[in-house]
Amino acid sequence: MHLRKRILITGGAGFLGSHLCERLLDDGNDVLCVDNFFTGTKENVAHLLGNPHFELMRHDVTFPLYVEVDEIYNLACPASPIHYQHDPVQTTKTSVHGAINMLGLAKRTKAKILQASTSEVYGDPEVHPQTEDYWGHVNPIGIRSCYDEGKRCAETLFFDYRRQHGLNIKVARIFNTYGPRMHPNDGRVVSNFIVQALRGEPLTIYGDGSQTRSFCYVDDLVEALVLLMATPDEFTGPVNTGNPDEFSIRELAEQIIALTGSTSVIETHPLPADDPTQRKPDISLAREILGWEPKINLAEGLRPTVAYFRQQLDNA
Ligand code: NAD
Ligand code: UDP
Repeated sequence: MHLRKRILITGGAGFLGSHLCERLLDDGNDVLCVDNFFTGTKENVAHLLGNPHFELMRHDVTFPLYVEVDEIYNLACPASPIHYQHDPVQTTKTSVHGAINMLGLAKRTKAKILQASTSEVYGDPEVHPQTEDYWGHVNPIGIRSCYDEGKRCAETLFFDYRRQHGLNIKVARIFNTYGPRMHPNDGRVVSNFIVQALRGEPLTIYGDGSQTRSFCYVDDLVEALVLLMATPDEFTGPVNTGNPDEFSIRELAEQIIALTGSTSVIETHPLPADDPTQRKPDISLAREILGWEPKINLAEGLRPTVAYFRQQLDNA
């Protein structure tokens, strides 16, 4: 008989979390989605509310949580610069206190726990592409530090809970991911450019647009997280999860203008402080241990993403 796992997803009403909820329900699990709705919304999971195996709880992870679960995916944390810089102290608290609370929960319930870490732990990297053994180049006192250092400290806590208490941990370093249900106003580059192109407004390139990123479609990323959770206990990560195809921000803008058939022009704006100049994951470890690599390239992933935003703007 297949025993349903009870799986907690913190930040489950957010962009990545809502896709992960769907996937884990499809796999036949009971899913408890916990979110304080800071950047996530009930609409993101509204289609799941009728499912008897899905439960939605409003809760802030900086406070303790007492539930009984078998696995925890810890995704709670605003991910876009606009949102994480809105209340930077709360951002650090969410990463650090949130990690302590969820690790405490994992310790009591003996649950396996996965941390949604980030490529931001590498800061503005001097090693390219980034491998997991690179320690990073992070400003501890800048405007991105609340997020970067919060996530770094969360990784430290995960590894100390393993060393000190023998917890079964998994750490994914997620690189820029995009897809339907990204917040239209969160300022991330893919959502910004698509919304601007659909409205016929100028696309806002920060700096000269030569900085690079690599963009992973959400379905590929969710698959990597599920595979990571299923790895043997000895494997903790950290493991890079992202798409190694690298694009300059200007190339991304041009691709989105072409795809949407927009008449928008490109406009340049000042580059924000500490904006990394290049970013691309080395995914050799994920290939080897998870047998995973992204299947959906940028052009393929942008199509459903554009369709989602088109529908959102039509309904607004
Ligand atoms: P998101 O903002 O859509 O989702 C984050 C969710 O966490 C939201 O639903 C928000 O309401 C919730 N949340 C925030 N603070 C909370 C708190 N104190 N208590 C409970 N819930 C809280 O962002 P996302 O893109 O879905 O990111 C999910 C996770 O993945 C984050 O931890 C993020 O750091 C990580 N990540 C994402 C990316 C990416 O490109 N999307 C890249 C690297 C890492
Ligand atoms: N960016 C841009 N125009 C925008 C939004 C972002 O040129 O309207 C740039 C931003 O400066 C950065 C890159 O796109 O160099 C990715 O930004 P995002 O906020 O999506 O993610 P992150 O910087 O965290 O990788």
